[in-house]
Amino acid sequence: MSGLLEISGLAVAFGRRGARPVLDGVELSVGEGEIVGVIGETGSGKTTLARTAVGLVPARSGRVVFDGREISGLRGRALRAFRRSGRLSYAFQDPLRALDPELTVRRAVAEPLAVAGDLDGAEIAARVDEALETVGLDAARLGDRLPGAISGGQRQRVLLARAIVTRPRLLIADEPVSALDASNRNRVLRLLDRLRTERGMAVVVISHDLSSLAGIADRVAVLYRGRVVEQGPVREVFGRPLHPYTALLIASAPSVRAEGGPGAAALRPSAEPPAWTAREGCVFAHRCPFVIGSCRTAPASGPVGEGRTAACHRVPEWHGLVATAQGPPELVAAAGETHKEAGRPPALSRTSEKG
Ligand code: SF4
Repeated sequence: MSGLLEISGLAVAFGRRGARPVLDGVELSVGEGEIVGVIGETGSGKTTLARTAVGLVPARSGRVVFDGREISGLRGRALRAFRRSGRLSYAFQDPLRALDPELTVRRAVAEPLAVAGDLDGAEIAARVDEALETVGLDAARLGDRLPGAISGGQRQRVLLARAIVTRPRLLIADEPVSALDASNRNRVLRLLDRLRTERGMAVVVISHDLSSLAGIADRVAVLYRGRVVEQGPVREVFGRPLHPYTALLIASAPSVRAEGGPGAAALRPSAEPPAWTAREGCVFAHRCPFVIGSCRTAPASGPVGEGRTAACHRVPEWHGLVATAQGPPELVAAAGETHKEAGRPPALSRTSEKG
């Protein structure tokens, strides 16, 4: 069954003649009423993925299909018409920069409807009140204020009100809680969950904060250097990551790390990586403590169980190398071989560390 949003083989590159690849072969599917988290470090391509999905950045290759229609090929008037429809909505990352400082809250939220041009003034006013109420803001009290005269948490909710005022079927929220304190963060996360349950809205939450996603996401995709290295149900991915990079992210986030799970130190190489990792092979090889000679061929993302994919040659055998001091002899030998090729010792000496 195809999802509401289907992204396949998506590649994006910036710079002259596409000299700087940012996304490469990204696959992502979002079903009706589903919350999907996209996680990864700064610079992993999360925001570019979001902006490409809504048509703000052109794809070099691949497809973005929304509700059965390919939108990655839309240009000019057709693209503008699709974006004006507001069925696929994007909440920008930074409310202070995304909101016009001279537009009142009410006018900022009304803008997408005014641009669409389908409703009259009274209908727009009613929809603005509805959107502000949905995000928990008092339209009568805050509607005439400027963004600079409200709090950061309120600005974030204004941005969400603006993104949902068109009643989208899918909302892509880019780091919606990264600048908020704990109480505002929980309020915004609960709101996203409510939008899904009450309106059947699908939500993609872009975040580098794993704990924010743990409570609301159904599935999660892990992005590293522009590639989805792992994808699956959030509980399973966070409970037993199948890619070493995911494991490192989780180990670095005490709030989601499973009790007894390895610490970050156990998932970092204790020696310099083989020289080839700088130019070829697995995208994570230069940071991976489990790298072996076969990682010189970039692994394709493939199914590794019900609803899960991972791009790693050593799934799931690398788990055994973390759990024990030395790991199974044949794997230790294999790892040693690789590093011998590079003239360095094997990088497994800290695998017993629990962090
Ligand atoms: S393919 Fe090799 S280098 Fe890449 S993550 Fe897996 S074990 Fe590490």
